[in-house]
Amino acid sequence: MQDLNEFLAAPVGAGKLEVVGRLDNRELYSSDKLRAKYVAAMAVCDKTKKDIDLINKLVMDKTIIPAFLTKNLLGFVKFKIFGSAGEKGIMGFFSPDVQKIFILIENAILDGMISAKEDFMASITIHECMHFGCNRGKANFIKLWMPELSKFYEAYYRDIFNVDKSKTFKVDKLILQKWTLFEKSGLNFTNSDLKKYNDTLISTFKNITTLDKEQFQTIVRDLLLTIKLYSVNIDAYLRLANSYKHIWSPLYNAYDKAFGIRNAQTLCVQELMWVSEVIAIIVEYKRYPKTRKTLQFLT
Ligand SMILES: [Zn+2]
Repeated sequence: MQDLNEFLAAPVGAGKLEVVGRLDNRELYSSDKLRAKYVAAMAVCDKTKKDIDLINKLVMDKTIIPAFLTKNLLGFVKFKIFGSAGEKGIMGFFSPDVQKIFILIENAILDGMISAKEDFMASITIHECMHFGCNRGKANFIKLWMPELSKFYEAYYRDIFNVDKSKTFKVDKLILQKWTLFEKSGLNFTNSDLKKYNDTLISTFKNITTLDKEQFQTIVRDLLLTIKLYSVNIDAYLRLANSYKHIWSPLYNAYDKAFGIRNAQTLCVQELMWVSEVIAIIVEYKRYPKTRKTLQFLT
């Protein structure tokens, strides 16, 4: 019965519908017509048009799946968090389990909606492709984007540990460690992994921070607590997020300082665990030639 309802909710003129995947036990539908309209929309957007050959290939081989979004799916908090913004009737997410990107498009009037929202759709597509690119490209992805990652995390750590401008430090090792411990493991990290990260933070910053010993230890502890809380229970994290504002709020400043980006679109916190989030955000604001190289990891 549920499937019939999904079917009835699909827009008129969508073409022949087929089941393309499942999300929390609900079937997702797509059609040749939806795929064609999605690719046509991506072909005219600045963020995606130069790579349209690769995007078209990824859609045709069903690595990127545009599908219809029913209202019921919008309710899942975890997709609001893991995926791109769910507003505007479109949302996207990357599923590491099935190695696919789903672009969910609300069951509204197909023709009008796509052309009105193609730019937003291009943003979420390219955003999710970077997460996927990190998953596939692994160390090559990190190497490729290390200059941008370093800029961002240097600004972030300098801010939270109050490091004086005259002091320089390297964050490559921290970035690689974060990626290995949190992102590559799919957040299946242990307390001893957290301890390793803790030790690296202390050894990197203890001699250059201007915070006193107690303040420094508090920031390190709160940073680890935020990671732990978010990974174990997102709902609990959201309830308590205000208590950790001194940890996540500097992430917004880091986007501004490193790239001049005023990021008001997303809830910053994933950056503490997933380094690919930083890249996924910055490519929404500006096209980097190496976006293409990242897309090639997926083909
Ligand atoms: Zn993201």
